Amino acid sequence: MFKKILIANRGEIALRVVRAAREMGIATVAVHSTADADAMHVRMADESVCIGPPASPQSYLSVPAIIAACEVTGAEAIHPGYGFLSENAGFVQVVEDHGLTFIGPTAEHIRIMGDKITAKDTMKALGVPCVPGSDGGVATLDDAKRIGAEIGYPVIIKATAGGGGRGMKVAQTAADMEKAFLTARAEGKSNFGNDEVYIEKYLTTPRHIEIQVFGDGKGRAVHLGERDCSLQRRHQKVFEEAPGPSITAAERARIGKICADAVANINYIGAGTIEFLYENGEFYFIEMNTRLQVEHPVTESIFGVDLVREQIRVAAGLPMELNQDSLSINGHSIEVRINAEKLPNFSPCPGRITQYHAPGGLGVRMDSALYDGYSIPPYYDSLIGKLIVHGRDRPEALARLHRALGELIVDGVDTTVPLFHALLAEPDVLSGAYNIHWLEHWLETNLGG
Ligand code: ADP
Repeated sequence: MFKKILIANRGEIALRVVRAAREMGIATVAVHSTADADAMHVRMADESVCIGPPASPQSYLSVPAIIAACEVTGAEAIHPGYGFLSENAGFVQVVEDHGLTFIGPTAEHIRIMGDKITAKDTMKALGVPCVPGSDGGVATLDDAKRIGAEIGYPVIIKATAGGGGRGMKVAQTAADMEKAFLTARAEGKSNFGNDEVYIEKYLTTPRHIEIQVFGDGKGRAVHLGERDCSLQRRHQKVFEEAPGPSITAAERARIGKICADAVANINYIGAGTIEFLYENGEFYFIEMNTRLQVEHPVTESIFGVDLVREQIRVAAGLPMELNQDSLSINGHSIEVRINAEKLPNFSPCPGRITQYHAPGGLGVRMDSALYDGYSIPPYYDSLIGKLIVHGRDRPEALARLHRALGELIVDGVDTTVPLFHALLAEPDVLSGAYNIHWLEHWLETNLGG
């Protein structure tokens, strides 16, 4: 087992990794920008190294700075968290070239899944059901129009290299195609340096259901059921739950096995998520994330496993402890993402936290790097905390979420907490009757935004 690992991230996910490592007796190294010198992840880790100025490209995304930090501290492995370098195949290659271990999948798997067309082709060949659409990239507007007519409108045009909800445009009718096609290409080019796009049938009332998988890199893999992440704003998740309110045990077993077999087949190592849209009882693959997800705690809650511990174990070459036969679901879990944002426009709201009080009690987990007096820097993501609750069933989890949100105090900045108070009064949220468009409609009606 490693003696020391470096965490190439910040905020709550860096703390999350420190916690797992500490329970395993592994020392931790935090890296930070000058803007994060006072950050909680720096305080909690055993050692820390300043790797550059506030802007991420010069710090959290600086491969030379991170490798140097490993060399200076003697860290043997790097946990990338999510975001930043977590899905950067080039980084993984450099890590390996320096004789260090990347706690995550291989560069090759990241490369395959990072290109959405290759990912879809690979999954299709592995027997995973996909959304109907173009066969690979679509080069010209004429091709796009022809494919739109073939598969039938509405369609969605997606940047091959896209992510985080960017580089996707819907064409409701043939008349929208030109604008949607050109915009998706331009966004792909400017955000991801790649203007290749592909086309999919736009599903009108799907849910977002994703399957957690975990592989040992040697042909064995398990699934840990699904998460329903349908409540989204601008294709970004805000509320996630497991198990999915609409998924039966038989469906879970069926799609779970397809996913576990697929990743076992490619000798996938570590944690991964296979994302689907789910409509009328059918699953349609959209993408695979080759990393730990923000919403992984809801899965941990219902299965009672520590996914980060498992990641570290298999990266160190130890056998995977997870066994499909002994994985069983216990109760229901919900996560809400608390962002430092001002409603109704969700504009980022960095600033100083004058008072912070985390909720507690049975079935409550608060993953956050906040503390009294902390100043949220303006340079990074606006996620400041994840409130995760667990109950014996969905109604109990909802009641617990309501209770815990009432205890939470975050003063000094605006947050998305009022959104969750409001959502918990909605019959559709209480009954689980929502799809990927529900929240956008609700926001338009209720916040006018
Ligand atoms: P990203 O990598 O940016 O997260 P995804 O491909 O995972 O992009 O899609 C993100 C979200 O966009 C989905 O959860 C869903 O809400 C919406 N979406 C993607 N593909 C489709 C589709 N074919 N039909 C309808 N909605 C879609």
